[in-house]
Amino acid sequence: MKEQIIEMEHYAKEHNVPIIEKDSIAFILKFIKVNDVKEILELGSAIGYSAILMASVKDDVKITTIERDEARYMECLKNVKKCGLEKRIEVVYQDALEVNLSGVSYDLIFIDAAKGQYTKFFEKYKYFLKPGGVIITDNLKFHGHVGNRNQIASRNLKQLVGKIENYIDFLKNNDEFETKFYDVGDGLSVSIRKNDI
Ligand code: SAM
Repeated sequence: MKEQIIEMEHYAKEHNVPIIEKDSIAFILKFIKVNDVKEILELGSAIGYSAILMASVKDDVKITTIERDEARYMECLKNVKKCGLEKRIEVVYQDALEVNLSGVSYDLIFIDAAKGQYTKFFEKYKYFLKPGGVIITDNLKFHGHVGNRNQIASRNLKQLVGKIENYIDFLKNNDEFETKFYDVGDGLSVSIRKNDI
């Protein structure tokens, strides 16, 4: 398994596939262990790096992970099989905003897909949390751009950073969820329903 993980890290570097930072995944793996997380939904599989690591925490972890890019989806499937995790990781090839879930709920929903759509993902998937379940979002610092929008020249990048800043405000001002922000890796948040605290 360790070999597969290193192989994936090399592949990601070579093919310019963004994968989670080491500190961030370490934080999530610990969260899974400490809170006995079993059912996970991940938005944004890429090549399966984070899903495979999350599934490796313990044998009763089950993951559904969604990816809209065909090449990455195929690579993810390949990696999941190589690690013998196909019974515990289901890879869905679809846009996460178009997936129709029913009759399922999760202890942890990990948002790691298109940064401009974080609020939409949150609003769509919050209904699929188990009582006490959490939504973790990655990349809230966006490589130091968040909070420094005025220094960005590119219009598109500025817009994207604006959307992440709006998402952070949305979390801070949310009546339904309590969110804690962590200065770990590229910036993480953990949101839990206020009623569940
Ligand atoms: N979680 C992965 C890991 O750490 O190994 C990294 C995911 S990468 C940062 C984000 C991925 O989300 C990309 O592969 C991208 O194609 C996918 N993505 C972006 N928007 C999406 C959407 N709306 N639905 C499904 N996948 C999406």
